[in-house]
Amino acid sequence: MKLILITIDGPAGAGKTTVSRSLAKRLGYRYIDTGALYRGVAFEAKSKGLSHDDDVGLENLCMSLDLKFIFTEEVSHLFSNNKDITDQIRSPEISMFASAVSARPVVRRYLLDLQRDMGVGKGVVFEGRDMGTVVFPGADIKFFLDASSRTRALRRYKELASKTSLTIEEIEQDINQRDKNDSTRSLAPLKPAEDAIIVDSTDLSADEVVELMLSHIGKHMY
Ligand code: C5P
Repeated sequence: MKLILITIDGPAGAGKTTVSRSLAKRLGYRYIDTGALYRGVAFEAKSKGLSHDDDVGLENLCMSLDLKFIFTEEVSHLFSNNKDITDQIRSPEISMFASAVSARPVVRRYLLDLQRDMGVGKGVVFEGRDMGTVVFPGADIKFFLDASSRTRALRRYKELASKTSLTIEEIEQDINQRDKNDSTRSLAPLKPAEDAIIVDSTDLSADEVVELMLSHIGKHMY
């Protein structure tokens, strides 16, 4: 069977991480959560007190950064200069800051090469916002995973569980704001690739989404 490269793009909270992880497991592939990389840059920028539009500061930061994933059985851990930052990058504050720094060309340029390097050899599921449009326009199969904003807010709320004092309404507002930032930025905006398969997960479980994707993937592997 041939190894292929699969991309899954979509807005915040559509279920990309759960689905990518499970799909990769079913195929015996790696999965790469590219949002974590943007969060990693945001986390380090914030720790250094940089503002989101300080391009010189961000460029210097990127030059000194060494971001990598270490895979365990179920989860992938993000390391920044050998420090595990997996848990620190998930706060609502870092989500919003990641959305802001991700609009800066200097940050996207740095992560573009890193992501492409991770795709060498294929056998990978990449999830993000511009995987099928910019980073891997030649991917073997592309999905765009969407869901209603209320459903996405509810999923995020459950995911954050006791770690947040935000209400569902506040999370929905954050998600809508991030989607607006991500889809209206001039560089690599969030949008489906022309050849992407659109999957609406509003009324589907993660398992149902994975089965649906596998049914599309089948013929690309032979
Ligand atoms: O996917 P996640 O919500 O963790 O992504 C955090 C932020 O990183 C997004 O809101 C988006 O601004 C940015 N991002 C991006 N391109 C990607 C992945 C994430 O701009 N491929």
